[in-house]
Amino acid sequence: MVDITTVGVIGAGQMGAGIAQVAAQAGYDVILSDIDLPRAEKGRDGIARLLAKAVEKGKAEQADVDAALARIRAVGDVSPLGEAQLVIEAATEREEIKRAIFANLGPLLRADAILATNTSSIPITRLAQAAPDAGRFVGVHFFNPVPVMGLIELIRGLATSPQTVSAVEGFARRLDKQVVHAFDAPGFVVNRILLPMINEAMFALGEGVANVRDIDTGIKLGLNHPMGPLTLADFVGLDTCLEILKVLQATTGDPKFRPAPLLVKYVEAGWFGRKTGRGFYDYSGPEPVPTR
Ligand code: NAD
Repeated sequence: MVDITTVGVIGAGQMGAGIAQVAAQAGYDVILSDIDLPRAEKGRDGIARLLAKAVEKGKAEQADVDAALARIRAVGDVSPLGEAQLVIEAATEREEIKRAIFANLGPLLRADAILATNTSSIPITRLAQAAPDAGRFVGVHFFNPVPVMGLIELIRGLATSPQTVSAVEGFARRLDKQVVHAFDAPGFVVNRILLPMINEAMFALGEGVANVRDIDTGIKLGLNHPMGPLTLADFVGLDTCLEILKVLQATTGDPKFRPAPLLVKYVEAGWFGRKTGRGFYDYSGPEPVPTR
């Protein structure tokens, strides 16, 4: 089984940066890539800010943070990823983007390297067709924010080998994350159950059943959830929510996954949630303010 010492991460957005952070904190050397160097460096700078805050709050030691940051190399293209034994793709949730990335990556990867995708919804077996070796391709679904959330869904495509699964289980253990195994079915376990709830909250908002605050408070206090579905959607990214629903709808043919019209409108407006400063809440002030 391949001995993982260097982890490549593709996409330095909220998930890729989080994965890079936890891997570096667990002692792996990390190569963090994006479309260009400034984006990759922005991801690394975000990690540095989060870790500096952890030191301020007494939750991390300065020496450990310095060592973790020194292990993260930001790069502007995929060529350095040939060094990695495990490459985790965490780019935008669009199948054509992921397929193009795998095509570029194929000739560069080590013969024994494992390629994993953090996709939220695209079938692993189908994506594996664009990967260099379907046996060494696997779904490794992290949760947001990665440093806080203790779960990884491990999704095996039809051809994923047991050795690939064991290697990724070992990686997850070192990150101190709990693994749940999911069959390669639309939405896996968590998103299959979560996205219909988030979508229904948006239908309820669009139909005027209640406002943003009351929908979130209702679910938070009524179901004892740590946050309401609209707050969570803003965290996930409304663009990502829409892409997941479209995949769920297309892959199951089930109309229950049709995206709420309000979600479509927000995405058309460029209101993607926290990452753009506005979604169902406005994040420009010190506290999020509901927009409806
Ligand atoms: P994001 O928009 O924050 O980041 C995506 C990053 O990918 C951006 O930095 C973008 O520049 C980069 N990118 C786009 N095309 C690229 C390419 N060709 N090569 C390299 N980088 C490229 O999105 P995110 O929320 O981090 O989501 C990334 C992936 O993680 C998606 O597949 C998403 O479904 C999945 N995911 C998201 C969440 C969540 O809560 N947001 C949770 C689990 C999984």
